[in-house]
Amino acid sequence: MSKLQKYREKRKSDSTTEPMSDRKAEDGKEPIFVIQEHDASTRHWDFRLQVDDVLKSWAVPKGPSTDPREKRLAVRTEDHPLDYADFEGTIPEDNYGAGSVIIWDRGSYEHRTEKDGEKISFDEADEKGHISVTLHGEKLQGGYELIKMKGERWDDDQWLLKKTDDDEADARRRPTNTQPESVVTGRTVEEVSQEDE
Ligand code: MN
Repeated sequence: MSKLQKYREKRKSDSTTEPMSDRKAEDGKEPIFVIQEHDASTRHWDFRLQVDDVLKSWAVPKGPSTDPREKRLAVRTEDHPLDYADFEGTIPEDNYGAGSVIIWDRGSYEHRTEKDGEKISFDEADEKGHISVTLHGEKLQGGYELIKMKGERWDDDQWLLKKTDDDEADARRRPTNTQPESVVTGRTVEEVSQEDE
């Protein structure tokens, strides 16, 4: 089964503006992360990490914080295609996730989860429910942790996103408020939505 099957099932390829390709990753390139602000039925920030040929994804209703004391709910969503990291625009009405999207932050990242002092693979960390990464973005830098919550329901896939308490931590920054613009086009999500009306 293709890792993108769920992605494709949720979308109408003839009416969404979202990428539908299944481009493979280039060998030897550092993996990327992207955070997209998405003004859908409820606004959220989609946090995505490239793992091989897909973007592992979480929807974060309050967005990422730079304050290590703040834990932000991050709901796991379906794997997205690599080309999604370049997607900015408006998903038309009557489509899954209808609303405007901007590339809020983007860059390379390192996966650095360890177990008993040894580095483990992303898939092992994902299975264990604790993923540690270091982001090299334009807005966000340094460590972040994704920690899976133990849900009551078998299908709960709720995680917490939290800043690692490192040199890049800053309780006062609030970048989702003070730096709302796209790192690619400089537009806010409201501007994208008005332009596409
Ligand atoms: Mn979204």
